[in-house]
Amino acid sequence: MAKIGFPKALYYYLYYPFWQEFFTNLGHDMIVSSSTSKAILDLGVKETVNDACLPIKLFHGHVGDLASKVDVIFIPRMVSVRKFATETFCPKFLGLPDMVHASMEDLPPVIEEKIDLSKSPLELWRVCQRIGKEFGHSQWQINNAYWHAKKVQHRFFKSMENGLTAEKAMTGEKKKYTKDKNNLKLAFLGYPYLVYDNFINVNSLELLEKMDVEIKTVEMVPAKKLLAQRKKLPKDLFWNFSNRVMHSCLYYLDDEKVDGIVHVTAFGCGPDAMVDKMMELESKNRGEVPFLTLSLDEHTGNAGVATRLEAFVDMLKIRREKQ
Ligand code: SF4
Repeated sequence: MAKIGFPKALYYYLYYPFWQEFFTNLGHDMIVSSSTSKAILDLGVKETVNDACLPIKLFHGHVGDLASKVDVIFIPRMVSVRKFATETFCPKFLGLPDMVHASMEDLPPVIEEKIDLSKSPLELWRVCQRIGKEFGHSQWQINNAYWHAKKVQHRFFKSMENGLTAEKAMTGEKKKYTKDKNNLKLAFLGYPYLVYDNFINVNSLELLEKMDVEIKTVEMVPAKKLLAQRKKLPKDLFWNFSNRVMHSCLYYLDDEKVDGIVHVTAFGCGPDAMVDKMMELESKNRGEVPFLTLSLDEHTGNAGVATRLEAFVDMLKIRREKQ
């Protein structure tokens, strides 16, 4: 049985539960890289091309962290996860295995299966069959692992829709980011690898929780309601995560009516250059809902983010008192 390495970055925050169940059900050990730290960041910066965005640099750091600990590393080519959709993941996800091979040496073998679920509802099952057979498992074993993994993933998504963040949903923690109904309600929106990585966002969720703010994230929007927001825009964006962030912004503006929106973005992110502006305009068009862009890079420090969030929350409190 193999030790399979899973980088704690990018697709980890939404899809780890499926793969963890799939591989462990087949009898393999899953090894997740250490939580993001200065050492992982430094390693990523050293291994990546200069103009890569922060999440891609970090991804390389996580791969480096796993290299000597595992037999094989899971780096799928993530293309699309929505059936019959034209959107894809950001181009950097599509070329992830190539980027890693081009810049890192002495890595163990990599599982770089293409995941494109846009063509057929059976595609994920086919991907699992191919991976399972590589490891010498029978079709019955693979089917069994696949159906268990589907159930686990479904429960994970439901837990997040019920108010848990990705980390809490993975650890089975029950506590939600909700308290008193009089608390301020803040949508903290962005790609999951920025919103849920406490190192990158310098513990923003914890900080907001201490300020008694009820936090809402993209993943807390029920899937059907998220999809229903599409009709409010003339067309979809090209990228899956960008659509999710944009649609959740519309949902929190129109349906849940939050007090303010924070958009967490990585410095140098191409797709977000457009998404950020669109979110700001939509917030403005709906009664000037306060909007803050929190741009993160490798030099982002605790004090800067804390000051901006505290000032934003203070402003929301004053605004509410006046209403
Ligand atoms: S969406 Fe932006 S932050 Fe995410 S990988 Fe692509 S460029 Fe980087």
